[in-house]
Amino acid sequence: MSRSAHPAGPRHADVLPEGHYSAPAADLNVLDEKVWSRTVTRDADGALTVGGIAVARLAEEFGTPAYFLDESDFRARCRAWADAFGPDADVFYAGKAFLSRAVVRWLKEEGLNLDVCSGGELTTALDAGMPADRIAFHGNNKTVAEIERAVEAGVGRIVLDSFQEIVRVAHIAQRRGVRQRVQIRVTVGVEAHTHEFIATAHEDQKFGIALADGQAAEAVRRALSLDGLELIGVHSHIGSQIFDMAGFEVSARRVVQLLAEIRDEHGVELPEIDLGGGLGIAYTADDDPREPHEIAKALSDIVTRECEAAKLRTPRISVEPGRAIVGPTAFTLYEVGTIKPLEGLRTYVSVDGGMSDNIRTALYDAEYSVALVSRTSDAEPMLVRVVGKHCESGDIVVKDAFLPADLAPGDLIAVPATGAYCRSMASNYNHALRPPVVAVREGEARVIVRRETEEDLLRLDVG
Ligand SMILES: *Cc1c(COP(=O)(O)O)cnc(C)c1O
Repeated sequence: MSRSAHPAGPRHADVLPEGHYSAPAADLNVLDEKVWSRTVTRDADGALTVGGIAVARLAEEFGTPAYFLDESDFRARCRAWADAFGPDADVFYAGKAFLSRAVVRWLKEEGLNLDVCSGGELTTALDAGMPADRIAFHGNNKTVAEIERAVEAGVGRIVLDSFQEIVRVAHIAQRRGVRQRVQIRVTVGVEAHTHEFIATAHEDQKFGIALADGQAAEAVRRALSLDGLELIGVHSHIGSQIFDMAGFEVSARRVVQLLAEIRDEHGVELPEIDLGGGLGIAYTADDDPREPHEIAKALSDIVTRECEAAKLRTPRISVEPGRAIVGPTAFTLYEVGTIKPLEGLRTYVSVDGGMSDNIRTALYDAEYSVALVSRTSDAEPMLVRVVGKHCESGDIVVKDAFLPADLAPGDLIAVPATGAYCRSMASNYNHALRPPVVAVREGEARVIVRRETEEDLLRLDVG
């Protein structure tokens, strides 16, 4: 994205303000299908509808701010991933992106598996009926209690993240008289984010066991020697919001190399590799994500080629998309409050939520789009910053965007692609009440996570 002039303003400004924005779209009323979920469109009155329901009705019934999740789109994306990878691979949805019991049921029905990384996520998954053998348990610091619950439930795999954990899990499994299926998470020295990747990233991070300096090989040695463990494979996760497959290529090559070393040393060919998640989605018109079938083909080609070169049987591949499934399926609906034009700079548009329902902009400098959705407008575009209502100047939802200049308090605006890492990272900062998640499908809307109430706040505060 480039900083560039835009035809209509900012009005009264001689100097362009600092910012990271492209020119406004030719017509702000057109909803870019890249960033909106699949059933989103505008009705005859110009209001945005999702699943056939207009936002004004949704706002009236469920209030704002609120997340609206396009259930048909979610299910379609699950199917697309499952179909793309086919019966010889496994797709694990990364529950940390957004998890609720309804989501677990959809995953189960659409044939996906599920990654969890805490006792709370495990409880949600099991409570909603996900078969334990379709659950993978992750995390760099699983507690003994969490490991015990996971082993007792019979999860399909535990992804081991440290030498201490290898011993802990083996001990717990052995005490229960079971062999726990495990993978070892390795750090392959690749770090990938959006358009760049580094093939020589240093291993200075909390996750995984380094391939470099033989640590991963030593972890494999120990895991193979312990009765409580059945080592089924090696796991690698290289980053987030990735568009370029080159990082996966390097990662897959290094993982396959390790499998070859394990074969040479121990005479065993581990049957599985997991290449993690991190596939990117479109937050703005400038992002061009790949389709699941392209990703599946690219990954399977890389692994097949590397295995042929190493004379290994091709292992079963698993992937763990979180954002790429749920991210595009939801938008956050806000009501516009205070509008503050700053001469020569930009217009600050305050909404009734903020960093408590979307921390990603403040935390990662994430970029989002925004649109006026309760009506259309023929007014000129104005450069805006959409901000929340919290007592923090970094409380920004959309840093740089264009909205029609006739925007007024009471209008509804929506931020698309907020399905991942927004509700799941939501907080009660300023005693904000975390917004509901409403699933919309074929003319029906139902709450799947209800809005928090002030009673909920007081219930935790025991005086
Ligand atoms: C976070 C994470 C994922 C999912 O990442 P997305 O960017 O949401 O696809 C998958 N696997 C592991 C191990 C993770 O930590």
